[in-house]
Amino acid sequence: MSEASPHSVSPAEPTSAPSRERQRALAIPVRRLYAASPSRLLAWLDCPLMYRMRYLDRPRPEPRPPRAHTTVGTVTHLVLRDFWDLEPHARTPEAVDAILSRHWIPAGFRDDAQAARWRERTRWQVLAYLGRLGRDLEPRGVERTVSFTTESLAFSGRIDRVDDRDGELVVVDYKTGRVPPDDDDARTSLALGLYALGAARVFRRACSRVELHHVPTGTVAAWEHTDESLQRKVGEAESIVTDLRRADTAFAAQGPGAPEFAPRTSMLCGWCDVRAHCSTGRAFTPAKNSWAGLPGEEDEVCEQ
Ligand code: SF4
Repeated sequence: MSEASPHSVSPAEPTSAPSRERQRALAIPVRRLYAASPSRLLAWLDCPLMYRMRYLDRPRPEPRPPRAHTTVGTVTHLVLRDFWDLEPHARTPEAVDAILSRHWIPAGFRDDAQAARWRERTRWQVLAYLGRLGRDLEPRGVERTVSFTTESLAFSGRIDRVDDRDGELVVVDYKTGRVPPDDDDARTSLALGLYALGAARVFRRACSRVELHHVPTGTVAAWEHTDESLQRKVGEAESIVTDLRRADTAFAAQGPGAPEFAPRTSMLCGWCDVRAHCSTGRAFTPAKNSWAGLPGEEDEVCEQ
């Protein structure tokens, strides 16, 4: 018979009564931290019913197929992500073309001609944006996941780009929508404030500046946070989490009919991914067609 390892614990080893009592005494109920991502927090603010369908209902309702402006946004982010992985000497327009070819999917467009036009437009928008930055920029992080915890939540989110400017970190978020954001959008963005806190924690460096880069126009909206303004963002997130805990508990006890999940109509209903399952939203406004989010394209509605 082999000897027992000095590190093994014998199952026959008696456990003393004081030890068990001490374990019971230490078994203080610990409140679990709420896993909070920007999309989860913002979904609740946009519409509690949409939040329920996206995060609580099982099986999850089938979402609407991708829309053209989502395709442009997603591909733009992917090209900008892969571009910074290249060595500076390899960051050429030809490399952008190759990356774009790898990621392009003509989803959500009216027809092939519209898809081809927007592929080319995406290409030159990205090239113009990168041309303003120069190929020698070395971001501190690209698509970097950052996180931090407070007494009530565990935040986790992914930042498009983190720049290092003279020792200070800057959070960069790419935007591709119709309208360029302004400084007030950067100031009020809950996600950007939480990203700054997450970046400071993960990189152990100061991070107070947040920027929204509108790739189609090259405009930059920026805000310089203070410790106080960042703490207000934490308070905002914790307040939302308090509501989310209450709503999640109501869902577990009462199911999807809980009153916490009343629909909140707004112009978002025209774009909502789950409007096919929401009679209130459908009655409020017609659905936008899948390419209506592209600037300059016809803003027709569809029947759904
Ligand atoms: S259609 Fe409007 S009201 Fe209905 S779930 Fe979507 S956002 Fe909420």
